[in-house]
Amino acid sequence: MKITKISKTVRRITANNPGVMTGGGTNTYLIGSENITVIDPGPPLEEHVDNIVKMLHGKLKRILVTHTHLDHSPAAYILKKKTGAPIMGMMALHEANQDPTFNPDKILEDGDKISEIEYTLRVLHTPGHASNHLCYILSNEKIIFTGDHIMNGSTVVIAPPDGDMSQYLNSLNNLLLFDLDCIAPGHGDVMKNPKEVVENLIKHRLNREKKVIDALSKMSRANLDELVKEVYRDVNKGLYPIAKYSLQAHLIKLMKDGKVAQIRNEFLWRC
Ligand SMILES: [Zn+2]
Repeated sequence: MKITKISKTVRRITANNPGVMTGGGTNTYLIGSENITVIDPGPPLEEHVDNIVKMLHGKLKRILVTHTHLDHSPAAYILKKKTGAPIMGMMALHEANQDPTFNPDKILEDGDKISEIEYTLRVLHTPGHASNHLCYILSNEKIIFTGDHIMNGSTVVIAPPDGDMSQYLNSLNNLLLFDLDCIAPGHGDVMKNPKEVVENLIKHRLNREKKVIDALSKMSRANLDELVKEVYRDVNKGLYPIAKYSLQAHLIKLMKDGKVAQIRNEFLWRC
């Protein structure tokens, strides 16, 4: 097992579930050495949970999850069974693709604080990738745990109805209000310069939105299959089924903005 020390109080262990959507695997973070908080115990892999337990030395205080997709929260239930520690997080608004075992002992809300002598974690509601997505800021070290709100090395998929592009952009903008030194993502390595990372992500999404607008205004009406080919020219065709989710999310945002209309399976440019 590979344990990486991220800072004075943070250790990381990565689950053995690499893939297109998960990069090198799901990162599990352990905060503190006495009253330990675990963030995202990951998928239900016995070996991964056993490795986490070995790192805890019986000092687990709580289990936090960033959201309830299957690569982040299912191990919470197993870890609770082994340690008795309570599970905390938020419930999603839609059931599809969510962890059915997720049953939190405490529902967290935006602005909640978790304080120990060694550290304080601030809870931030960041809907967009998922309606119940939470980030956690380790205030004393200015580290933000971003789950799938920000990943390193793979693009975050926004899949409606639980995924929402308008909310995703709002949640990214919200991060710019905080003084942060580094991002500890749910997948991939730590990222420095959080402000630059967040600004680039916003730019990337707005560029993609512009491509949707350009394609639709040129074609005047098109269905998802026609649009994905036009808007994601730079993306490998094998990824089109995934890209279609984010495309749909962009279209829903543009419909909310009053720029696009939908008639049956076709989208129309309104401006
Ligand atoms: Zn994930």
